[in-house]
Amino acid sequence: MTQVVLTYDPSLGHMFHNFPLLSFLPCAPVRYVPPPIYRYLSKPDVPADGYGRAVLAPYGIRKIEACLKTKSKLRAEVVHPNYLDRHIREDTKIIAVNTMDPLGIGPLTIMFNNCGREKSWVAYEFESLIHTINVLRRNRCPKAKLIVGGSGEWEFEIRPEMIDALRIDYVVQGEMDDIIHILFEGLIEDSIDNSIFFHGFRTTLFNQHGRATVTYVKDPRGRFITRHPFSKYRLPKIEDISTIVGGTISGQVEIMRGCGLDCDFCEVTTRPLRYYPPEKVLEEVRVNLRYGVRNAWFITDNQWAYMLRDPDYWPNREAIEKLYRTVMSQNGVTHANPMHATLAPPAADPELPMMISKIVGAGPGKHVGVQIGLETGSDKLILQHMSRKALPFRVGVDATWSEIVIEGQKALNAAYWLPAYTIILGLGGETDDDIWDTIGLINYMASLGLLFTVTPMALVSLGSLRGNQSLTDVYASLTPAQAALIYVSWRNTRRMAELLAWRLGSDNPILKLVTGGILTFGANFWVNSIERYFRKINPEAGRAIEKAKNYTTVYSKGTDFNKLRERFKEVKSRPAIIN
Ligand code: SF4
Repeated sequence: MTQVVLTYDPSLGHMFHNFPLLSFLPCAPVRYVPPPIYRYLSKPDVPADGYGRAVLAPYGIRKIEACLKTKSKLRAEVVHPNYLDRHIREDTKIIAVNTMDPLGIGPLTIMFNNCGREKSWVAYEFESLIHTINVLRRNRCPKAKLIVGGSGEWEFEIRPEMIDALRIDYVVQGEMDDIIHILFEGLIEDSIDNSIFFHGFRTTLFNQHGRATVTYVKDPRGRFITRHPFSKYRLPKIEDISTIVGGTISGQVEIMRGCGLDCDFCEVTTRPLRYYPPEKVLEEVRVNLRYGVRNAWFITDNQWAYMLRDPDYWPNREAIEKLYRTVMSQNGVTHANPMHATLAPPAADPELPMMISKIVGAGPGKHVGVQIGLETGSDKLILQHMSRKALPFRVGVDATWSEIVIEGQKALNAAYWLPAYTIILGLGGETDDDIWDTIGLINYMASLGLLFTVTPMALVSLGSLRGNQSLTDVYASLTPAQAALIYVSWRNTRRMAELLAWRLGSDNPILKLVTGGILTFGANFWVNSIERYFRKINPEAGRAIEKAKNYTTVYSKGTDFNKLRERFKEVKSRPAIIN
């Protein structure tokens, strides 16, 4: 029988007909996407085997499984959320749930559900899962502990009242995939080793200059658990992390941790850089192949930092090439792509994405998808909050940020890469001029026919997300320019839906037409609704949207990138400094 039941938020297990644009669907409010439409668009779900175990699962829960199965004697299984009743039994001691956005207050979801004012599908599905678990454990194993972890655990730091409301016993934070067996064994015996684990959470505070410091907040009730700052187990080295033993959704395999570009709003950058050697990545790719997954989706926050050696962030081209060649040379692997990257390296060296495309065989019918933080079109905000994101360029000296973005975008599209950008509204010091810089940049790139999506995310103060009574009306609090920026971002997504909905995805042609039709209709409905809403609540926003429809001004200093690249050749040939 299963002592440790590992499972995951059901919204992480939908395949969305393999349409990249549909993966945002769980962020949508339940009220506006009726259940039959949601259920259809989110299909298929990852399959379960004859015992109700997930055949494929999110990478994070597979890492926990790997640690338990290689370092402890606990009987653990990753169970499909639809088959929990087969595994939650009398002898179950722990039920652990992996989640990314449990309460629907993630930066993207709040743009769809207006800061949690509407119930989003992601929150609805999480609550339903927890309800099912609570019913099962009440009837079968009342002493079993319910634990939640994963990248969305921070939402409980903001709304701790939800821990009790959902009857969750512990919220576990941070990298635990080397010591989770020690924690689980301690929880089962009601004796947690307080020299290894801290009852509280690690958080990042920002001073008035936007500099981040990491601090630990104690939780007197002991519901939060993280690695103790003075634990004898430091953050794991790559060799201390177990290789997955089961298949992952979309072929997720990790290639590195950390980023190091120091954007002042980003927690990832506070973690040390560590890299998986290609051979260890290949081990996990081989596990996925055993489960029929022929794609390798590289988990990274910035692929260009893989095996970095240069202080100016010139990517280590040889290491990246070796990684892709190693994986693609494995029999059965058909594709590989990174989860996240940045834009400046392809602008500085357009051959970089092209090199990868040649290795993976990208072309008009086989794109390389990647998520990239474009963040803003404003030089001022880039310099204030994330100047190193433009490395190896210096914004304002070598080129403007808009020029770097356009050049990088062209290089990516030329190599059949499809970037999905995120932009941030509400960065400290932001003015309307900065917003118009971003609007001009998006519209200009769209006017060139370049292929990309832009998803706006509001930097809402975490304080305003606390409690249920004081929810910010994120839309009502937008300036007219911000409203216009949201409008042009979604208008661009509609353009992409119309261009690509019929081509992407893995359904048969008839289902592709159905899904493409719903997607195009949905994008139209969303853009028109946003425009109507903004016009209704603020006539000035309506006027800003009208202006934004044709605003294509881009801040440029006439940079000649060919000359710039020539100059960089000399820099690139210097000896490595960082190791
Ligand atoms: S580039 Fe991305 S991952 Fe890296 S520090 Fe900046 S925001 Fe964070």
